[in-house]
Amino acid sequence: MPDLYIDGMWVPASGAGTRDTINPFDGSVVQTVDEASAADAVAAVEAARRAFDTGPWPRTPIAERSATLTRVAGLLQRDREQIARTETLDTGKTLVEARQDVDDVTAVFGWFAEHALSQRDRVVETGNPDVHSRVVREPVGVCSLIGPWNYPLLQISWKVAPALVAGCTSVVKPSEVTPLSTIHLVRLIAEAGVPAGVVNLVLGAGAAVGPTLVEHDAVDLVSFTGGLMTGRAILRGAAQTIKRTAVELGGKNPHIVFADVDFDTVVDQVLTGVFLHAGQVCSAGTRLIVERSIADDLVAAVASRAERIVLGNGLDEASESGPLVSAEHRAKVEEYVRVGTAEGARLVTGGRRPEDPTLARGYFYLPTIFDDCSRDMRIVQDETFGPILTVERFDTEQEAIVLGNDTEYGLAGAVWTGDEERGDRVAAGLRHGTVWINDFGYYVPQAEWGGFKRSGNGRELGVAGLEEYQELKHVWRNTRPGPAGRFTS
Ligand code: NDP
Repeated sequence: MPDLYIDGMWVPASGAGTRDTINPFDGSVVQTVDEASAADAVAAVEAARRAFDTGPWPRTPIAERSATLTRVAGLLQRDREQIARTETLDTGKTLVEARQDVDDVTAVFGWFAEHALSQRDRVVETGNPDVHSRVVREPVGVCSLIGPWNYPLLQISWKVAPALVAGCTSVVKPSEVTPLSTIHLVRLIAEAGVPAGVVNLVLGAGAAVGPTLVEHDAVDLVSFTGGLMTGRAILRGAAQTIKRTAVELGGKNPHIVFADVDFDTVVDQVLTGVFLHAGQVCSAGTRLIVERSIADDLVAAVASRAERIVLGNGLDEASESGPLVSAEHRAKVEEYVRVGTAEGARLVTGGRRPEDPTLARGYFYLPTIFDDCSRDMRIVQDETFGPILTVERFDTEQEAIVLGNDTEYGLAGAVWTGDEERGDRVAAGLRHGTVWINDFGYYVPQAEWGGFKRSGNGRELGVAGLEEYQELKHVWRNTRPGPAGRFTS
C-alpha cells in the first residue's frame, strides 16, 4: 500500500520518489516509503482546505468528534505491540520506551476526547438586557503539523489529537528519518471513521515539502516541533500570511542538585534524565548543576552507573539504551565531544564509540560526562542532543538559579532539595516551561507543555493545547433591534 494519504486515499508520490528508512541498530533498511514532492504537499493542503470549507468534520457535533478520538485510543492499544516494534526499528529506542510512548499517546487521545466535552461557550454580561452575547470556540482551520524524529508518534499525537477534536483539518508531516509510526497512526485515524481530507499525510524532506506546508495561503496554522534553526525558518515563512504558529523547539535543561538530598535517588535520576533514549530528548537533563560539597561524589557515582548502561538492539529486552538515530547525527555528537575537549572540559567517561563488535554497524555512542564545565562553553550552551552530561558547581542558591537560567532555551529544569521552601524558591526563579521538584521528566496530558525563551511559543497538551487549535468568536445578538441613531440628518 502506498504511504501518502491525501483526500482519503493512499497514494504514491506524484514524482515516484521513495526513501529508505534505516534501522539505527545495524544500518539495515526497515522499509522503503513514498517520498512526497512539493506538488503532493499542495494536493494535501488543498484537500484539507476543501474538507474544512465544505466537509462534515468541522460541523460534526463535539460529542461525535470526541467519540472518534476515543476510538483511535482503543485502536492504538489494539496495535500497541506492533506500533512499539515499528518505533523501535525506526528510532533505535528500546521496546520498553516505545511501549511507554504508545501508552502515553493513548492517554493523550483519551484526555483530549474528554476535555473537549467540558468546554463551554462564555456568556458575556454586556449591561444591556436586550443583548445576548457569547464567546464561542471554532476550529482554526487547516493546520500543518510537523514533527521531529526523536519521539515521532508522541510528538505528532500532541498536535493531531487536539486539531482533530477541535474540528480542524490537517496535513501531517513526520520527520523523513522516522515516518513509520505516523503512517500507522494515520491508518488508525482512517479506520476510526474520520472523513476523507480531514487528516492528510505527506512524507518527505522538510526542504522539499516544508515551504508549501508553511507558506501556502490555504493553511491557517503551523504547529512545529523540532530544532531552533528550523523553527526560525518556519516563523519567517509563516509570517507572510499571518498564520497562527506554535513552535516547540530545543532545550538545554538544568538539573540542579543541592547537598541535602537522598544521594542514591539523585544518582539514578540524573543518570536517567540525561541518558534516556541516548540523550535524544528535548527535555533531557544535560546540565548537572550541583552543590560543590557533593559534586565530586555525585559525578563519580553517576559516571560509574553510566559505564554500566547496557547498549544494544532496542528489540532486545536486555538493552537499556539504543543507538543514536543516524550516522549524521552521531557525527554531530562526536563533533561536540571534540569541541568540549578543546574548550578545556574534563572528560570523565565515554567520549567515544563502544568497542563491542556486535554494535559496530549501529550508530552507538558511549554515555559521556564532562566535568569542570563553565557557562561560556559551547557544550554547556548548545543543545548537543546526544548522551553528553556537563557538570557545573555552585555554592549558593542564587548562583544555582543564575546558572539554571543561563541558556537561550527555557524548556524544562529540575531542582533536588530536602528543603521544601527552597524547592519552591528555585522553581519560581527558573525561567523554564516545566520545573520538576524532586523528580525528573514527567509530564501528563492534563498539564501544558512548552517553552520559555527560545524553546518556543505556544503550548501543547493541557487546556491551552486544545485552545491553540481554536478561534474565539464573539457573537452578539440584539433581541430588540433599532436604529443606531448616530447620524441624524
Ligand atoms: P528538525 O528541526 O531538523 O526537523 C523537525 C521537522 O521539521 C522534521 O519533520 C523536518 O523534516 C521538518 N523540516 C525541516 N526543514 C523544514 C522546513 N524548511 N519547513 C518545514 N519543515 C521542515 O528537528 P529534528 O527532527 O532534528 O528534531 C530534534 C529537535 O526537536 C531538537 O532540537 C529537539 O529539542 C526538538 N524537540 C523539541 C520538543 C519540545 O517539546 N520542545 C520535543 C521533541 C523534540 P525532515 O526531517 O524530513 O527534514
